[in-house]
Formats: sequence, structure tokens, C-alpha cells
Amino acid sequence: MTLLYFGIILATITIMEAFSWFFHKYVLHGPLWFLHRSHHTTRHGLFEWNDLVSVAYALPAVICIYHGLQNNMAWLVSIGAGITIYGILYFALHDVVIHRRVKIKYHFTNSYLLRLIRAHKIHHKHLGKNGSCAFGFLYASGKYQPKASNMV
Ligand SMILES: [Zn+2]
Ligand SMILES: [Zn+2]
Repeated sequence: MTLLYFGIILATITIMEAFSWFFHKYVLHGPLWFLHRSHHTTRHGLFEWNDLVSVAYALPAVICIYHGLQNNMAWLVSIGAGITIYGILYFALHDVVIHRRVKIKYHFTNSYLLRLIRAHKIHHKHLGKNGSCAFGFLYASGKYQPKASNMV
């Protein structure tokens, strides 16, 4: 049974990444660009309007966990846990590893992380709403793998 819940958590994380890719590409770089624009320009201060999007992601997690605990539905708690873990991974990778909002000096050498960092830096090369690419947060396609000669 534990394995089932573990599977639900993993599936939720995967679906969340797929959803976030879609949401980033078609909604944030679409109707919600007025919020997301703050993330494509230089930030003044600690927070930016785009952070509201991250906060909004917490809502379904809270609802799933609360409702699941109230009604003894472990599968729903697992979905809530998956969304929460996705949020933590998103923050760790996007906000810390890539954007260094928490000041760390560590230089990553892991090829998966280097690919992710490069893909997102390319995403940010575009300051406008249109024409950007690489909308994922936890996964980047192999075409963004840095070659030894063009390390970022
Ligand atoms: Zn963007
Ligand atoms: Zn970013």
C-alpha cells in the first residue's frame, strides 16, 4: 500500500511539471503576463509579483491535504504531498540553484543541473512575452545540454 502512495506522489510531481510547463508557456506568457513580467525584468527588493503564482500553487496542496485528512483519504493526502514536494523542488531548483535568491556560492557540476540552468537562462534571454522557449522547471530537453565549450 505504501508503494501505491509513493507512486501517487511521484505521478503528482510529474503531472505538476507538465502542468507548470503548460501554465508557464500559455498562461504566464499569455493572459497572466502582467504578473510574470516581473520575473523577466530586474527585481527590486525581495519579492516580485510573479511570487503570487507560487503562493497560488500552495492552495490546491492545502485543500488536498486538509480534505484528505478529514475524510481519511490517504490517496488525496498523497496528491497534496506531491504538490508540496513539487513546490519545494521548484523553489530549490528555480529560485535557489538557478536564480540564487538565497545566496549560495556553490558551483554545480552535475550535468542534469547544468542543463536545467542553461535552459532557463536561455528562457530568460527573452525579456518579452513572446518568442521564448524552455518553459520547464524541473526538466529540460537534452538539446540544452551545455557542451564543454559553451558552459554557462
Ligand atoms: Zn517565463
Ligand atoms: Zn526564472
